[in-house]
Amino acid sequence: MDHQHAHGFDLQTRLRERERADLRRSLDPIEEVSARARVADDSAGETPSFDEERLVFAANNYLGLAGDERVATAAAEAAREVGTGAGASRLVVGDTPAHRSLERRLADEKDAERALAFSSGYAANVGTITALDPDVIFSDELNHASIVDGARLSGADIVIYDHCDANALTEAMADRAEIAEPDDSWLIITDSVFSMDGDVAPLDAICEAATNYGAWTMVDEAHATGVYDGGIVGERGLTDRVDVQLGTLSKALGAQGGFVAGDETLVEHLLNAARSFVFSTGLAPPAAAAAERALALASERRDALKTNVERLREGLEAMGYEVWGDTHILPVVVGDREAALALDDRLREDGIVAPAIRPPTVPEGTSRIRLAPQATHTAADIDRCLAGFEAAGEEVGLL
Ligand SMILES: *Cc1c(COP(=O)(O)O)cnc(C)c1O
Repeated sequence: MDHQHAHGFDLQTRLRERERADLRRSLDPIEEVSARARVADDSAGETPSFDEERLVFAANNYLGLAGDERVATAAAEAAREVGTGAGASRLVVGDTPAHRSLERRLADEKDAERALAFSSGYAANVGTITALDPDVIFSDELNHASIVDGARLSGADIVIYDHCDANALTEAMADRAEIAEPDDSWLIITDSVFSMDGDVAPLDAICEAATNYGAWTMVDEAHATGVYDGGIVGERGLTDRVDVQLGTLSKALGAQGGFVAGDETLVEHLLNAARSFVFSTGLAPPAAAAAERALALASERRDALKTNVERLREGLEAMGYEVWGDTHILPVVVGDREAALALDDRLREDGIVAPAIRPPTVPEGTSRIRLAPQATHTAADIDRCLAGFEAAGEEVGLL
């Protein structure tokens, strides 16, 4: 017995450890359909306190386009005419007119020479960062996990700077300059809109810092694509100063996939060197077609989203809630994790799906409800959410 090997994986123990640390997550059935602004309640009887419908304030389908008939039609047509799957890597035989057409539309949207579609935003980040193979990466401390993973896999020296702090970035660059080789390649990477804080990176100051050192700038617009005309980079007129514009098709565009936009040389390099592009089946044509149609429709939904965001933010602040950020993502910060969970539970009873976000996803003491209204919520939906917050806040003792 004592010579027997035991090189297996004790996943039961790992799961139990997660559970003990209160880190175990499970798949809640409602999440299957949570992209919609409202879903039928299938738990009638168990929670009879509301009528047959849940309002979902948890999805990144900000413009409601994942439920748009015209987007669905574009996907269905592509499925029939081009195929449900690409069938191979784009570099082999998986390249289709649906991909080319989407990429032209994306390049246009981002005011760039060219764009390249990946099968997800995650794959776009990991593939792009490793393909650029930088010597040093300067990364905002709250950057998305796919940036963190890409940075680690690239083998670069990683310098983390304080969240949205351009001065901290500048100082870090100055420090690094003292020990750097003259021809080291430096890449600054930041989200534009941050998912959990709903705030926006100081892109002007970041571009300024990049220019001072001849570094490149890469901006991940996953939460801004479609919501802002040309993303935050486009809105602020920074397209010429940002070397790598990255985004996802999976959030406001209601489809699936990711992309990079930039100059011809960048895209040619990526399609040769980004392993998540080269060695992965091309984006599914229905997703490409859906995203292209959604891009064309996005502008007609922006005002409705803005109206909902303002109504929700003003209502919550009037009640005395602390709402962070200045975008379409509304983090309602309540402090400790029990308060956030109690609020989440109580809101669910009222048919409002709004997830508690707690450590380690966010720092201790800043547990919150992350509210993501959609353009397709009605004023009455927003008011029902507000009423839920008022009742729940009083019951839980937050107001
Ligand atoms: C969601 C997200 C991604 C990943 O995009 P997917 O298309 O969902 O893989 C990348 N970066 C940021 C900042 C994100 O929020």
